[in-house]
Amino acid sequence: MDKKNKIAFNVPYLTGMELHYMQDAVGTGKISGNGKYTQLCQNYFENRYGFGKCFLTSSCTDALEMAAILLDIKAGDEIIIPSYTFVSTANAFVLRGAKIIFADSMNGNPNIDADQIEALITPRTRVIVPVHYAGIACDMDKLMELAERYKLYVVEDAAQAIDSFYTGKDGRRRALGSIGHMAAFSFHETKNIISGEGGMLAVNDPQFAQRAEIIWEKGTNRSAFFRGEVDKYNWVDIGSSFLPSEITAAFLWAQVECLDQIQAARKDIWNSYHERLKELESSGKFKLQDIPPYSTNNAHMFYLLCPSGDCRNQLIETFVKQEIYAIFHYLSLHSSPYYSKEHDGRILKNSDAFSDTLIRLPMFNTLGLSEIERVVDIIKREFN
Ligand SMILES: *Cc1c(COP(=O)(O)O)cnc(C)c1O
Repeated sequence: MDKKNKIAFNVPYLTGMELHYMQDAVGTGKISGNGKYTQLCQNYFENRYGFGKCFLTSSCTDALEMAAILLDIKAGDEIIIPSYTFVSTANAFVLRGAKIIFADSMNGNPNIDADQIEALITPRTRVIVPVHYAGIACDMDKLMELAERYKLYVVEDAAQAIDSFYTGKDGRRRALGSIGHMAAFSFHETKNIISGEGGMLAVNDPQFAQRAEIIWEKGTNRSAFFRGEVDKYNWVDIGSSFLPSEITAAFLWAQVECLDQIQAARKDIWNSYHERLKELESSGKFKLQDIPPYSTNNAHMFYLLCPSGDCRNQLIETFVKQEIYAIFHYLSLHSSPYYSKEHDGRILKNSDAFSDTLIRLPMFNTLGLSEIERVVDIIKREFN
């Protein structure tokens, strides 16, 4: 048997301009945060996607932590998040002493089931955190309506959702991350546009913008000082070191400049998989990604839902034997070693089903057609 090349799950894509901009940043002598490249990136996102004030952070985890500080989350507060998500969605609020109330996913779609949220709301509920899994929108009209009715805040975990859109009942198409009171993005090397580690908080509700800048700058009014608005800078609030260096922002700028090409390449790959697998899906062998009519697809991820956990694990093993890295994703947080004892015992069957049966296929910009065909052939053989 001839040895085929291995296929990674993810290969970080470089546009070719990263080192150029990083060198420029170093050359300016200003390499700490909030310089030229930070401003370029933040302005771009605000203008292109209609976000409120944007703050680059060193990760999406940091952006979520900033959001929890900004919302004055305290011990006893309750935060509703889907169980099927990354730990950072929960940790940001647990760090402030809050209790996490886990919601189930929809049937057939990993996003939070908006119809089950109202039953979880109590007088202590403060925030709902929808996670746009795979860059596919949550049902934002329903979520925002609930938030308004119960006076709650919505923080979108948009880590995977850059350049994806939601069309509401009013027919308006809005960028994911521009709808909730705040939104957190990730530029981790596994996301669509990257800076190694990196993230951003979009502060859409203007009442939080000024304080966000202070928390971002370690609890000081340093930014206002540099703008000449105050004559001394001082410790004025709690905060932390949330800014990335200009070197990281310069790397990100190279990616931002190529965002349209990056997105077009990812969509091509996504479509190549989809065209080759949709027939097998319609014969009922497995399910492909659900994209509700209100959402676009930013081609962050390509996944299948297998009919059982055993079937999914078998498929992963078959891939590994061929040195192809297709992988499962989140394990439900409500049954995690850290938090299961805090959970109220409700069974979240959809979340558990995604933990058991979801498999993500290799997905990165330089994935070739012959590699896609190898992956697809294995799936076809396995299911026929
Ligand atoms: C990637 C991811 C995060 C964490 O992002 P970092 O930038 O690595 O901190 C949080 N939530 C979701 C849904 C993610 O996919």
